[in-house]
Amino acid sequence: ASLPARRAIRELPDELVSQIAAGEVVERPASVVRELVDNALDAGARQITVRLTAGGVRAIVVEDDGGGIPVEELPLALKRHATSKIRSLEELEGVQTMGFRGEALAAIASVSDMSIVSRTADAAHGQRIDARSGELSPAARSVGTSIEVRELFFSTPARRKFLKSDATELAHAVEAVKRHALVRPDVGFAVWHDGKLIQQWRQASHDTRMSDVLGADFVANSRLVDTMAGPMRVLGRIGLPEAARARSDHQFAYVNGRFVKDKLVAHALRTAYEDVLHGQRQPAYVMFIDIDPTRVDVNVHPTKIEVRFRESGEVYGAVRRAVEQTLAVPGGAQPIRPTG
Ligand code: ADP
Ligand code: MG
Repeated sequence: ASLPARRAIRELPDELVSQIAAGEVVERPASVVRELVDNALDAGARQITVRLTAGGVRAIVVEDDGGGIPVEELPLALKRHATSKIRSLEELEGVQTMGFRGEALAAIASVSDMSIVSRTADAAHGQRIDARSGELSPAARSVGTSIEVRELFFSTPARRKFLKSDATELAHAVEAVKRHALVRPDVGFAVWHDGKLIQQWRQASHDTRMSDVLGADFVANSRLVDTMAGPMRVLGRIGLPEAARARSDHQFAYVNGRFVKDKLVAHALRTAYEDVLHGQRQPAYVMFIDIDPTRVDVNVHPTKIEVRFRESGEVYGAVRRAVEQTLAVPGGAQPIRPTG
């Protein structure tokens, strides 16, 4: 058999590298929302507004009141592997911010029409940068950042075909904001769709935010968990078995403030409920696991949705015990803890 004709090795153009990276991080409008809200939180925002058009397929705008980006760094913000969040391997291992890969903006920009308007506290006015041309121009804005993403996947029709209906994309995008809203009650969130305000969560206590996002029933039919286990704290609300649901739509687990879909955590919870839940019923829970950041690797998956624990057996045991012990206490739900 003859060998295939050999093609010489070439470095890929930057744009294509970003488009390939985008394949990993940007699946749909909700992934863009998630990355942009992560960035807003990292910038210290107290109020985040998400504006979607046609389920986010036509446009996604995320506005924050965080610290902003200095004009001289705007071109860098769009560059691949450029980040203000880590500088060394040591910092990566102790990373506290949601972002650190310096990839999201470059990836999103490579598959959309993106622009950033930002203003820092010491700037006289805002500045806009157009991602495609790199052109800078003055723009009106209060301190903070707005990122606008138009026509997602317009240049990659194969990907665009995978998008579902606007209604489905909208539901995923709102879910992405919900995941952030549950873990950051200290931040206000608003979601607009086609010019209408569809969700608004004002700054609140943890319990009030859970009630605002998941409904008063969730809080009324759940118990508080708050356990220390070695270098880890397990905190949250777990639904009583009677309040289990047909769907797994009220299952939220976080590691160090990051929403995760972690098999280990999910399994620990499932096992803890095993004796009290029957059939296909799904427990409702919001669980925050806080652990020394050097004991968990968040750099396992480009979207950071999976993590790797250094002492996975201990994490598993701590979560399971926390849930089992809380469920074993006789009586009904605990009342909402008074908050100041
Ligand atoms: P990462 O978040 O991993 O650093 P991104 O591509 O998401 O990478 O963002 C690149 C850089 O742009 C960030 O490190 C940050 O300095 C800046 N940036 C992005 N979004 C914002 C924002 N909303 N407010 C302030 N700075 C931002
Ligand atoms: Mg980021």
